[in-house]
Amino acid sequence: MELPDSYRAACLLGPEEIEIQQLTLPRPQSGELVLRVDVATTCGTDLKAFTQGGHPRMLQVPTPFGHECAGTIAAVGDGIEDWRAGEAVVVLNSASCGRCRYCLQGRENLCRELRYLNGSFADYLPVPAQFVARSTYPIPPEMSPEHASLTEPLACVLHGIEICSLSEPSDVLVLGGGAIGQLILGVLSASGHRVVLADPLAMRREIAIQMGAASAIEPPESASPSAILESAEDSLGFNLAIDATGSVAGWELATQCVQPGGEVLFFGGCPAGTRLSLDTARIHYEEITCRGSYHHRPAAVSEALALLARRGLAVDLLLSREMPLEQIEEALRSMMRRETLKVAIRPAA
Ligand SMILES: [Zn+2]
Ligand SMILES: [Zn+2]
Repeated sequence: MELPDSYRAACLLGPEEIEIQQLTLPRPQSGELVLRVDVATTCGTDLKAFTQGGHPRMLQVPTPFGHECAGTIAAVGDGIEDWRAGEAVVVLNSASCGRCRYCLQGRENLCRELRYLNGSFADYLPVPAQFVARSTYPIPPEMSPEHASLTEPLACVLHGIEICSLSEPSDVLVLGGGAIGQLILGVLSASGHRVVLADPLAMRREIAIQMGAASAIEPPESASPSAILESAEDSLGFNLAIDATGSVAGWELATQCVQPGGEVLFFGGCPAGTRLSLDTARIHYEEITCRGSYHHRPAAVSEALALLARRGLAVDLLLSREMPLEQIEEALRSMMRRETLKVAIRPAA
């Protein structure tokens, strides 16, 4: 594959300010590679970064933008033996150090030197050596780049589910039917759990049913959990409640919807600096467990690829639209208007 001298990349410049720029395409140095992006998917985190003009962990403006993608290796630098030009791969948006205490425990998502890679909304993505060595995965044969691009969000979801202590078939509440909420309920339903989604949008509730949810309800207007508790199998509440709204109200509601001894997973990240109010009696007298989950680990990435390869989830329901790179802003705005869950950007289209 002949590398061009420059390429188009969507750059985030500030709040709701995005621009397609022509950037110089560097030749890969030792240990590096250049990926031709076949598909990059938009995600709720991108939308957050777009509206806020940055992200506390992942990026600071101005920066090339986008973090979920699948592509074809266009060129490799010296010293690379595992990869060849022409191979279809997923490059993840973070790379852990492999040396710190968390990495050694298999909790790479908590790595103290976790580095992030942004810039998938582009024709090409230059991939640094650390990402080639630790965060590049072959795409299984016959998997479309659209599906492969979902590896990262699905890995985050699998990581979140794995740290919960679900064993026997359980009654689970998912708050928020964005793409992440849908992946969560899809995975749990496929594993034999009964899942109820609460989301105000009819379109999302319909998708949830097709993804395998037992039922989908409108969340209450007030913060009272009683309407939601009526949809639980046990009047005492759900075994597990998962917030996928990323709002403090969602987190608090989740803590009110589980039965004594139940579990809460705070999946959606809330705005920086926000605080949670918790009923101490629920923690003490009712022994509910609350835990957060962040990002993904390499083990969850391999599982995500395997799950996508065996077509274990109806993920096409999440990818309702495809757009060329020039329309990246419109793609994000369609998410903002809540018309789409995820858009597949095809730079070459
Ligand atoms: Zn994402
Ligand atoms: Zn580390």
